[in-house]
Amino acid sequence: MLRRTPLRRRTGDTPAKRASRAAKRESVSAWKKRCDAAVSVEVRTRYADASGNVACYTCGKVAHWKKMQCGHFVSRNNSATRYDPDNLRVQCAGCNVWGRGRYDVFADKLMEELGVERFRSLLKRGRLVHQFNVPELKDIHGRAVDSAALAPPAGLLE
Ligand SMILES: [Zn+2]
Repeated sequence: MLRRTPLRRRTGDTPAKRASRAAKRESVSAWKKRCDAAVSVEVRTRYADASGNVACYTCGKVAHWKKMQCGHFVSRNNSATRYDPDNLRVQCAGCNVWGRGRYDVFADKLMEELGVERFRSLLKRGRLVHQFNVPELKDIHGRAVDSAALAPPAGLLE
């Protein structure tokens, strides 16, 4: 006789409930994308000069902020420090993508800039497990947009 293994389902799991969970996940990931974009603009313009040029943190190459990227010291896969100002610096694509973040240089410079205590505290925060929710992401997004608006990014309003 053929026996089927019963599908494991959560009790009370209906298609509607599954859809609502999927929608929740979707909006967290949608808001994360909006935050990534807004925080990236905020970081790249914060370090830019009046004409919009900014230096790569790890190699010193100078280019317009629109051509640069926002590099994460602790990987952006880690939510706890994904939008942490101490963790984010401007990098060129060469360093951020092809140089895989240039962690050796990034670490040296960041430790010198932040001091050992603050650097260690960043590493510690970077090991925390954190799960975003939509209100938190909306808050992060709003603050990033506001602070970019206080100092309008050069070249954005042209
Ligand atoms: Zn670089």
